[in-house]
Amino acid sequence: MLIVRKYGGSSLADGERIRKAAQSVAGLVAQGHRVVVVVSAQGDTTDLLLAQSRELTKAPDLRELDQYLAAGEQMSAGLMAMALQELGVHGMSLTGAQAGILTDGSHGDARILTLCTDRIRRELDRGRTVVVAGFQGVDRLGDITTLGRGGSDTTAVALAAWLGAERCEIFTDVDGVYDKDPRRFPDAVRLEKIGYDRMLQMAKEGAQVLHDRSVELAKDHQVPVWVRSSFRPGQGTLVCDL
Ligand code: ADP
Ligand code: ASP
Ligand code: MG
Repeated sequence: MLIVRKYGGSSLADGERIRKAAQSVAGLVAQGHRVVVVVSAQGDTTDLLLAQSRELTKAPDLRELDQYLAAGEQMSAGLMAMALQELGVHGMSLTGAQAGILTDGSHGDARILTLCTDRIRRELDRGRTVVVAGFQGVDRLGDITTLGRGGSDTTAVALAAWLGAERCEIFTDVDGVYDKDPRRFPDAVRLEKIGYDRMLQMAKEGAQVLHDRSVELAKDHQVPVWVRSSFRPGQGTLVCDL
């Protein structure tokens, strides 16, 4: 089975967490699955990078800001590939551009236009576990773009759609989708399943758990998405057609 699995920033916050995530991926590989791992920048890296750029300019050139911010995910990807290799898995990292993620030129809020999956397929066929830097792509000029805050979810769903993956898993710091933000509302109730339309509405209203464009893409391409916790066992929530 081909699985696309995404780890968010809190799931990769330090070396130990990266090792844990890599061990879990290695478990899938040992079961015979082909895996594409999508990674976010570690912890609050993107916020820190934004703060650093603000020390230099209040109105950054958006092309340059993308060039800078995309590095956070690129670093995570390299670390994850190294962690996988340490476990005897043939991990290899790719930036969004190397992974063939083509976007429009709207720096900071780019939309994925298409995916050239040749490279990823070739690497999977060679037995590689491919680690893709989330949140980024490349426009037709060859410039790095970013997909908007939270955009690594969209990278994962797009890869699952274009590769025809059987599963797309979003590993995060909550054990699924709730009827409201479980951090703010202790009485929030976890949902076993949620339809694309309701999920999209929640994402558009600011529920961070999934990037709104990832839900749009999942609906358009009929990708079932599992939202699960990196820290607690469990099936999580299935986002699908209801
Ligand atoms: P990641 O770094 O893994 O991408 P995010 O911080 O982007 O994680 O998204 C997970 C967060 O989304 C949770 O910690 C939670 O506070 C928030 N959230 C908001 N609304 C919801 C909801 N309805 N269900 C689950 N989580 C939600
Ligand atoms: N690192 C980016 C952000 O913080 C993308 C992501 O995490 O999905 O918005
Ligand atoms: Mg997120």
